[in-house]
Amino acid sequence: MLTDTVTRRVEGTISSVGGLFTDPVIRLGVTGLSRAGKTVFITGLVANLLDRGRMPQLKAAAEGRIESVWLQPQPDITLPRFEYERHLAAMTGDDPRWPDSTRSISELRLSFRVRPSGMFSGLQGMQTVHLDILDYPGEWLLDLALLDKSYEEWSDATFARLSRRPQAREFLAIARAEDGARPLEEDRAQALAASFTAYLTAARKAGFSDCTPGRFLLPGDLAGSPVLTFAPLPRPSDTRRGTLWNEMARRYEGYKSEVVRPFFRNHFSRIDRQVVLVDALSAIHDGPQALEDLRRTMADILTAFRPGSNSFLSQILLGKRVERILFAATKADHVHHSQHPRLTAIMQALLRDARDRAAFAGARTEAMSLAALRATVEEEITRGGEVLEAVRGRLAEGRQVAMYPGELPEDPARLLSPAREGAERWLDADFALMGFAPARGDLRPGEGPPHIRLDRAAQFLIGDRL
Ligand code: GDP
Repeated sequence: MLTDTVTRRVEGTISSVGGLFTDPVIRLGVTGLSRAGKTVFITGLVANLLDRGRMPQLKAAAEGRIESVWLQPQPDITLPRFEYERHLAAMTGDDPRWPDSTRSISELRLSFRVRPSGMFSGLQGMQTVHLDILDYPGEWLLDLALLDKSYEEWSDATFARLSRRPQAREFLAIARAEDGARPLEEDRAQALAASFTAYLTAARKAGFSDCTPGRFLLPGDLAGSPVLTFAPLPRPSDTRRGTLWNEMARRYEGYKSEVVRPFFRNHFSRIDRQVVLVDALSAIHDGPQALEDLRRTMADILTAFRPGSNSFLSQILLGKRVERILFAATKADHVHHSQHPRLTAIMQALLRDARDRAAFAGARTEAMSLAALRATVEEEITRGGEVLEAVRGRLAEGRQVAMYPGELPEDPARLLSPAREGAERWLDADFALMGFAPARGDLRPGEGPPHIRLDRAAQFLIGDRL
């Protein structure tokens, strides 16, 4: 371990000396829980940057300092490339549809030729800046919490959380009836893991965010391997080698060392800027429990970015830290723009709360609401004699409809204060029915796909480096 650390330190020094002579690189991490909008965000952002179409809030673009933008081969040649072209074709083709979601990690390099800003910009030549975008599931970040927990601690914490959830009833019955002191039988281990995975899937669907271990939901090429064939168990009195409990503990430790640590060491540790996408509208619609769970999850995510929060992380980061973190509520085109300030205020309140809970200090953080691909236009509709601020879009089957999602509270405390009784429902009108597909024919050459505040997000995340 020590040699590893020393080697990294030396490598770090060499690369920073090398950095004096090479082009600057920004490594932007894009994460968020499954379906938060990562794929759409990256595709929309890259398309708009390549076209420099709809990016007035990105200063370098507004000042006309970006001469060209192009895609390049990525530096990590063993990582899958983010399938930008395929996703863009899906979103903007003749029959536009949403692209396939993030299942694993991927990367894309975008390079900029920019004229520097400032007093002496005339004296400086053009500069090339690379933007390496790293797309990874937010569930993988939450796995960080496992590193500090033994199998027994993790089992206890998981049971405590699951005991109140109807989605876990079946798994709890199987796990509690199990005797971990019995010799390992593979089919029982597999049945337990399958039932635990079924619970995680159902919890995810019900809107819960804390569905870890992350790879159980997005296994990729680890599907079916022993490292994903474990589940929490009550501790028996006999935990000797060869018992089911002992084997489960061994696999849990294997998951930590072979799956979780390599991700943090090889990829997470190199991120400079981070955007965390949050499907806040769905959590608000799902109700107080989902929102409470989102609050906790945001704090857990922030913990991963807190220097010194975890001894393993401190070892691999060696003092390096993420400089900026943006928490963005996605899919803001589901609500009329008059509701956007409320959505942003809710995100800001959630971020403040997460910062307090995670005792977070350091990186610059910001909260906003955006739509990476705007699929709706605004429209007023009359219902029961009342004029409602609605949005109109195309349903997957092709029909155009105007819908009213319901309201967000003006004061975020009505949604988030611990004293709330859960009696108030928000976004309870048509929100559940709003399965809009991307709009047709909105793309003009050099314009970039339509969005809401993607340019502001870009300015916060990378604007100072262009
Ligand atoms: P990922 O799992 O984080 O990669 O999520 P995706 O980017 O695949 O997005 C999940 C789903 O959210 C998409 O299939 C869309 O239905 C929806 N979505 C994402 N971004 C937007 C957006 O900007 N506007 C709208 N209306 N829907 C979006």
